[in-house]
Amino acid sequence: MERHKTLADYAPSGPKVRVGAEIDAYCTKCRLVLGHTIMVMEQGEPTRVECRTCHSQHIFREAPPGAAPRKRAVEKGSGTWAPPSPRRPEKAWLDATAGKDLRNPIAYHPKTTFEIGQVLIHGKFGIGVVVGLKEGDKILVTFQDDTRTLVHGRA
Ligand SMILES: [Zn+2]
Repeated sequence: MERHKTLADYAPSGPKVRVGAEIDAYCTKCRLVLGHTIMVMEQGEPTRVECRTCHSQHIFREAPPGAAPRKRAVEKGSGTWAPPSPRRPEKAWLDATAGKDLRNPIAYHPKTTFEIGQVLIHGKFGIGVVVGLKEGDKILVTFQDDTRTLVHGRA
């Protein structure tokens, strides 16, 4: 069965698709997608091609019968390409630091008592902003990558 081909399949190719030009096509004899020479064009589409390998002439087929339209398959898990994933600052961080001066953070220590809005620097998590107070001597601190609960005011 001949798959109906649309002009869109060839239109972008422009002048490259013409009688005598080479085109990749499925050879019904070789049963492979091989280089073919276009023999007949109809309405801007190659309809008859000659296989450059076995020199048989046949109807132009872009892909083997039953094959999916040739689109570059998205390779998954190949490890050859991965989107760069820099840790984007969380929105909470942007909100918490808006208008804050981060240049003079208070060194975090469990014994220090903090207040909402203060900027602190934690030995492991870095700079954070106190965004909440919790019962039991705990503060809610928004760091660049996450919001964490820390203890404070421990005598
Ligand atoms: Zn062939």
